Amino acid sequence: MSASQPPVVVVGGGFAGLVAARELRRRAIPVVVYEAGKQVAGLARTFRDDEGFTYDFGAHFITNRLAAEVGVEAQCRTVRYYGESVLLGGRAHSYPLGLVSSPRFALPAIAGFAAGWRRGREPDSAAAWFRARYGSAFADAVAIPLVEAWSGARAADLAPSVGDKLGSSVGHMLFLKLASRLTGRAIASGYCRERPESVRVWHVYPEGGVATLCEELVRELGDAVRLESPVQAIMVEGGRAVAVRVDGREVEASAVVSTAPVTVLAKLVSGTEALRHLAPFRYRPMVFVNLRFRGRNLLPDVVTWTPESSFPFFRLTEAPVSMPWLAPVDKTMVTADLGCEVGDSIWQMPDEQLGELCVAHLEAVIPGARRRYGGCRAVRTPIAYPVFLNEYEDARRALQQSTGVEGLYSIGRNGEFAHILMEDVYWRTLARMRRLLAELQTCA
Ligand SMILES: Cc1cc2nc3c(=O)[nH]c(=O)nc-3n(C[C@H](O)[C@H](O)[C@H](O)COP(=O)(O)OP(=O)(O)OC[C@H]3O[C@@H](n4cnc5c(N)ncnc54)[C@H](O)[C@@H]3O)c2cc1C
Repeated sequence: MSASQPPVVVVGGGFAGLVAARELRRRAIPVVVYEAGKQVAGLARTFRDDEGFTYDFGAHFITNRLAAEVGVEAQCRTVRYYGESVLLGGRAHSYPLGLVSSPRFALPAIAGFAAGWRRGREPDSAAAWFRARYGSAFADAVAIPLVEAWSGARAADLAPSVGDKLGSSVGHMLFLKLASRLTGRAIASGYCRERPESVRVWHVYPEGGVATLCEELVRELGDAVRLESPVQAIMVEGGRAVAVRVDGREVEASAVVSTAPVTVLAKLVSGTEALRHLAPFRYRPMVFVNLRFRGRNLLPDVVTWTPESSFPFFRLTEAPVSMPWLAPVDKTMVTADLGCEVGDSIWQMPDEQLGELCVAHLEAVIPGARRRYGGCRAVRTPIAYPVFLNEYEDARRALQQSTGVEGLYSIGRNGEFAHILMEDVYWRTLARMRRLLAELQTCA
């Protein structure tokens, strides 16, 4: 590609956009990143408060492998412990061992698995997938209520591919857990699909918060990143993306890489109807209530799932148990995840009231929760999770291959409309950029 060619335009300065831009720049491709917000990092932003607490949009765990790739290994500390529990009937069951060893769940799971295997029928919804995979008892008490709480949709209306989000087999998870015990490092399980899990891949976390990754990427990009510059339109001519409009100005582009939610992308593109079918896709909005408490190790585990509908939240995370430096000594932060819709009562509820709502229910989980409570701060996002509805599953799968518009790539968690964490975003973005480079070479 010659230096006189227009730049590749990246829409969005979140993790995916910055990874894409750095990769292109390293290959000497001119690139410019337009970010709508005042700062980079998007969902991988870090918040810090005056009392010395650090938190993300929900806790973010990354791996030593990703930290090394991005170049922030030296700024990360090893996570020594990570564990999950499920709270049922007031009792915490460790995940997966406590649940799989419970006769209530184990026996129906084995029977269900055998029956499904005999029938050999493909499940046609997430509900059917969970029942076939784990048995009705576990599916109905744990998996389906959780999936409905985070998606805001009926499990019967969700595609079976929701199950892809779940980690490796129980046996493999138990092996990795044992390895964690032996090595004193939290071996990552269920965090990355693009590269193999192994005892050499463990959780780390940057001292300054997860935004450190994006700060490092920006360092290499310099003035190629333009903040407060929302892309207002992507122009397509003859089936090819040729320009974007920013600040009312048209900017020519040799290709466009979008990390915007696909629902936004569908509206941005002009000159083609090829992306119209993406408009009805849905994202699940979420409110994360970060509650400050006196004490530490207050929850049954780092992550505690609460599938019972009596709770307003479906997940609780006490990140300082894994990353003690995120809270002052003798204090802790519990993050409660509340699914909602933009504009509903949860979305609009003031922080103080959200805190009250959570603490009232936390009394059942944390003894003396109210006495220990020291206030909260909530963060909200309209795009926490892509919702895999069956009604657009074929279109979602097609999007994994291509946008259908030449020179237009839709990448990242919300651009791919995929349940992927940062390491998968990283590897998949590199793979897409290899395709883009090949395309640019062909065009040159
Ligand atoms: C609750 C939760 C917990 C998570 N936990 C983990 C975890 O433990 N580990 C992990 O690795 N990952 C985790 N993730 C996933 C991780 O946050 C994402 O994979 C990653 O941050 C996605 O980056 P992105 O660039 O694809 O998207 P985004 O972060 O959404 O970035 C997109 C950017 O595009 C910008 N933009 C949108 N429209 C325009 C426009 N028109 N013009 C210009 N800019 C625009 C936005 O402002 C934004 O900055 C979690 C995510 C959530 C929601």
